[in-house]
Amino acid sequence: MNIDANPNLPVTSLRQLAEAEAACRRCPLYRDATQAVPGEGPKRATFMLVGEQPGDKEDLAGKPFVGPAGRILDQALHDAGIARREAYVTNAVKHFKHEMRGKRRLHKRPSNYEIERCKIWLERERELVKPAAVIALGVTAARSLTGKTVTIGKLRGKPLALADGTRLFVTVHPSALLRIEDAADKHAAYRQFVADLKSAATAR
Ligand code: SF4
Repeated sequence: MNIDANPNLPVTSLRQLAEAEAACRRCPLYRDATQAVPGEGPKRATFMLVGEQPGDKEDLAGKPFVGPAGRILDQALHDAGIARREAYVTNAVKHFKHEMRGKRRLHKRPSNYEIERCKIWLERERELVKPAAVIALGVTAARSLTGKTVTIGKLRGKPLALADGTRLFVTVHPSALLRIEDAADKHAAYRQFVADLKSAATAR
């Protein structure tokens, strides 16, 4: 099956989807990444959480949200009353975009072109998982899902609808919380993040 040559070919399972993503050459990001990182979670999850792209640890592990941002996300889901078994986690872009700084691989935000090229895989994931609600974590995910450049502050906390009627909630990416140095600010941002997830939990 060469779905990359013909993206209209059907993908009927998450396993098939992961194989198609691994073989994808639709944008240049595959060249410098270790591997494509497919989504993970139950096939019929109630919630689909969409991040930006795999980070350094995710790229090496081949799994989404295994680094520090993933640990915050797990805690926040717990605090929001969303069980891990209800949540399918994935990214808008499946390969790790970065630049070398010495021996370190520093994250680079995907371009709109890369987001658009990778969107096909997120759409296939949504078709397969059929979540009751999609939660966009950060601007890249929101850009992919809405097709527009958006401001998180304007959209967070209120339910939106995707073209197929699926409810969409927008909040920050958990890595944004990691970058806040002031402890009080970080705590407030975390509480807001949990509140956003609680709003999404009403979509059950
Ligand atoms: S980032 Fe997405 S579109 Fe680009 S090569 Fe990887 S899977 Fe394909």
